[in-house]
Amino acid sequence: MTRPVTARVPAKVNVQLAVGGLRPDGFHDLANVFLAVGLHDEVTAAPADTLRVTVEGADAGQVPLDHTNLAARAALALAERHGVAPGVHLHIVKDIPVAGGMAGGSADAAGALLACDALWGTGATRAELLEICAALGSDVPFSLVGGAALGRGRGELLTPLETGGTFHWVFAVADGGLSTPAVYRECDRLREASGAGASVADVPDPEPSPALLAALRTGDATALAAAVANDLQPAALSLRPALAGTLRAGADAGALASLVSGSGPTCAFLAKDAEGAQAVAGALAASGTCRTVRITSGPVPGARLVDV
Ligand code: ATP
Repeated sequence: MTRPVTARVPAKVNVQLAVGGLRPDGFHDLANVFLAVGLHDEVTAAPADTLRVTVEGADAGQVPLDHTNLAARAALALAERHGVAPGVHLHIVKDIPVAGGMAGGSADAAGALLACDALWGTGATRAELLEICAALGSDVPFSLVGGAALGRGRGELLTPLETGGTFHWVFAVADGGLSTPAVYRECDRLREASGAGASVADVPDPEPSPALLAALRTGDATALAAAVANDLQPAALSLRPALAGTLRAGADAGALASLVSGSGPTCAFLAKDAEGAQAVAGALAASGTCRTVRITSGPVPGARLVDV
């Protein structure tokens, strides 16, 4: 194919992020319940002599354009595996906040894989794409799959979850990002400082909450709100104390649940319905505790090719 190919990929929110102890390899075992939500990046792959990345969008300046860009790494991994030259111009239209705990880089990697596979005609199987995704990062397989899923291991071993309805969300985007590895380090430090210890021997194995899985299945927003949990939230708040004010503003405005999204600093608010989401968003925008407010819903499908 010589025409440019575009993939559209959603952001995620972790409705449960249970973090186990620090493993000897430096990772943590997780019980990570992902929900794909309707903020999307678009990745277009166009024929080119060499690998080149360009980015547009409000946060474009924070995204690397060299081969450390996750989309570039995805293209290189696919090209190497199939013995093709990695000649491609990847253009990313970025709507997912950068370093916001919403898997923006992972979304771009999944999108680049799908788009390059179509452009180059490499015909990778779904299983092969998922394998490349897992090697690129813990959240990348979910960006491909979308919907709702439980991630075990580092989060890359996915089991799709049934959902019974649409959940309405508001996201408060903060100024500046938080480094995911730094948030995990802070989580370990806080666990050590509490005297409980941070290793696998000290921390109970992370398990998904049966109440949370049931709430997803039935589409019950009130029950989901009662069960959401993020073990990284204390660490994100410790590194960015101002997030407490953002969470309070959303709760005061009637959000059913207020939590840090993944490693933060984006905060996620679950609303009762679309109208409730409008009210929470309005109050957050007026509160002056965040940079931007976004209203969306989920689950939505994972990465897919689109006609533009
Ligand atoms: P997660 O929720 O998966 O932990 P995140 O959403 O917090 O990730 P990203 O937006 O993926 O964070 O960005 C993390 C860092 O990765 C950025 O600071 C940036 O330097 C780098 N990065 C590499 N490629 C990309 C990309 N395509 N888009 C955004 N950031 C990228």
